[in-house]
Amino acid sequence: MNTHVVGSLTFKTQADLKYYTKEILSRHLNKTIDHGYDFEFITQVFSRHPEWAEKKGTGVIAYKITSNMGSYHVDILRTDGTEIDISWNTAVRGRGRTVHGDRMKELRESVDEQIKEFRRSQGHITHCPRCKIPLTSAPHVDHTPSFRTLVTLFDTSGADNFALYHKQNASLQFLCGPCNFKKGTSDELL
Ligand SMILES: [Zn+2]
Repeated sequence: MNTHVVGSLTFKTQADLKYYTKEILSRHLNKTIDHGYDFEFITQVFSRHPEWAEKKGTGVIAYKITSNMGSYHVDILRTDGTEIDISWNTAVRGRGRTVHGDRMKELRESVDEQIKEFRRSQGHITHCPRCKIPLTSAPHVDHTPSFRTLVTLFDTSGADNFALYHKQNASLQFLCGPCNFKKGTSDELL
């Protein structure tokens, strides 16, 4: 099971963390959070955000909580006087900072069927499109953009279904092993 450690708390599921975070935001609706336990906790949550370094900029003075179409909206007020919005849902989803388990593995498994379907549909491809050598019985399936890049894009997109996002945004092709390695995507082997 994936547990999520945020500050001194451990959440059994991402949904639990989301619920807890939302509860804090609701208590500060139309106010700012600028000190104390809630400030520390929310900062821990936002530190999971894939773009946290850019978002916090020079440093955070406070978080301003408003609501927009029924969902909580957070703006960061920075020490240099600038403001920027940040998605707390993206932060809750995080960068796969799970203590147990492997998010990349889970995400790959979630698109397993798509990869199998791609393999079935490409049975007529017999040669590597790059180097033209005959493909083996189990050619590599190459991703464009790379799988890791796709995960990063997904995390910042606000989308919530990775398999669907993958289906819509990943371009796949067969490559022979050497060409796949040369492409510099040794993490893309499927
Ligand atoms: Zn090749």
